[in-house]
Amino acid sequence: MTHPAQPKASHFINGEYVEDTAGTPIPVIYAATGEQIATVHAATPAIVEQALSTAKAAQKAWAKMTGTERGRILRRAADIMRERNHDLSVLETYDTGKPLQETLVADATSGADALEYFGGLAGSLTGEHIPMGEDWVYTVREALGLCVGIGAWNYPTQIACWKGAPALACGNSMVFKPSETTPLCALKVAEILHEAGAPAGIYNVIQGMGEVGGALVTDPRVDKVSLTGSVPTGKKVYAAAAEGMKHVTMELGGKSPLIIFDDADIDNAVGGAINGNFYSSGQVCSNGTRVFVQKGIKEKFLARLAERTGNAILGDPMDEATSFGPMVTENQMNIVLGYIEKGKEEGARLICGGKRADMDGFFVEPTVFADVTDDMTIAREEIFGPVMSVLDFDTEEEVVARANDTEFGLSAGVFTKDFTRAHRVIGNLEAGSCFINSYNDAPVEAPFGGVKASGVGRENSKEAIKHFSQVKSVYVRMGDVEAAF
Ligand code: NAD
Repeated sequence: MTHPAQPKASHFINGEYVEDTAGTPIPVIYAATGEQIATVHAATPAIVEQALSTAKAAQKAWAKMTGTERGRILRRAADIMRERNHDLSVLETYDTGKPLQETLVADATSGADALEYFGGLAGSLTGEHIPMGEDWVYTVREALGLCVGIGAWNYPTQIACWKGAPALACGNSMVFKPSETTPLCALKVAEILHEAGAPAGIYNVIQGMGEVGGALVTDPRVDKVSLTGSVPTGKKVYAAAAEGMKHVTMELGGKSPLIIFDDADIDNAVGGAINGNFYSSGQVCSNGTRVFVQKGIKEKFLARLAERTGNAILGDPMDEATSFGPMVTENQMNIVLGYIEKGKEEGARLICGGKRADMDGFFVEPTVFADVTDDMTIAREEIFGPVMSVLDFDTEEEVVARANDTEFGLSAGVFTKDFTRAHRVIGNLEAGSCFINSYNDAPVEAPFGGVKASGVGRENSKEAIKHFSQVKSVYVRMGDVEAAF
């Protein structure tokens, strides 16, 4: 019997599901059991061509609709996503292994927020009138054209919407390529947009590995590339996009600092560290994986952290009581276990976890290392798993310098009751998305993105509009033209 997660076909192009079994088969493995639940096929060159040519052909008429009309379609899609939240959450859990307890509140709902928010903004995108004496200049905010979205595997529904919603609101069309690891959810986003009234060809989804992504990025018809992925992939995609002078948004990796001063509320700080390291089993780009704890509260913090981490419920992700799921793939599990071994070898003190969980599926126990030093591998490299490094510090000046001593700059957080200090520290941290007495909130209203190697551009908020549109300025002369001859 076909598994319920098996999509109707691999791709969604021009308003319908499309299959081409000549493409390389991509197995979809359910991370909680290791069982294959679906198969899709990578896009062949013919599929890539079909997606790009339909998206190109459909875009102009879409941009000519009023923003209110486009917005209405996006808002209708948001409503459909919310109505189907349960089924979409189950699919997200099959795609990623994340527990239903999370996916019910963080994935289709977050995608729907983006569709609703950008649907609401679409009718308000205007230019400026700039008086020049009797003459004037007016500006027009125009679509970029054909946009490519490329996704990572941790939030397949959310990423498809965070890229698609602002792109479509501005009058662009999109070809979206999900991660080959989680190919299922973006197809549902395309199906729902189409059902909500998006014209055929406006939002297309094709499958494939990096090679298909590369074919999309280098195509001369493509005006913009928005990637969510790792820094090495970002460097390649950014360089390829630059060849064609294309716009880019790069949402890449991180090794973010979470700084806890000794006046912080310990339970809130522990809660922040848990949210910033163990949500989605640590597979979150903005995670605060370097937890700097001021020496005075170190042992108290570690004791409370170990106690609360012990409350994590590992188990069947479809059981809503489960609060901690497996790694997305066996490979990712092995990468994370490799980092845990490095942590032990390099002398970090294991506080809890530290091994594969004794159960089916690709589970790694939530792991905390203390006495981590800045030079250890686990403090320098993005692990993308449930491994928290706790480092000690004495002074504010010292911790700010150490927090910034990384190539990354996605997020940063501070816990303290001293708000003057909180703002001063955040002001000195090199990061795009910051938190005071909180961690990892990502509402659609707030800009999200990184500095340094963590990225270029911003998703969400009104900032995202700037990254999916461009300004045309028009000088209007009322009188005669003066010329030298
Ligand atoms: P990845 O870099 O391996 O792949 C990301 C996507 O890029 C995939 O769809 C992949 O097929 C595609 N790709 C790979 N090579 C390509 C190429 N040469 N040209 C075009 N496309 C190519 O990342 P991943 O392992 O899927 O995801 C984990 C990474 O993503 C982590 O580093 C994480 O921090 C980052 N991430 C960042 C954010 C953010 O918003 N900043 C969010 C989620 C994940």
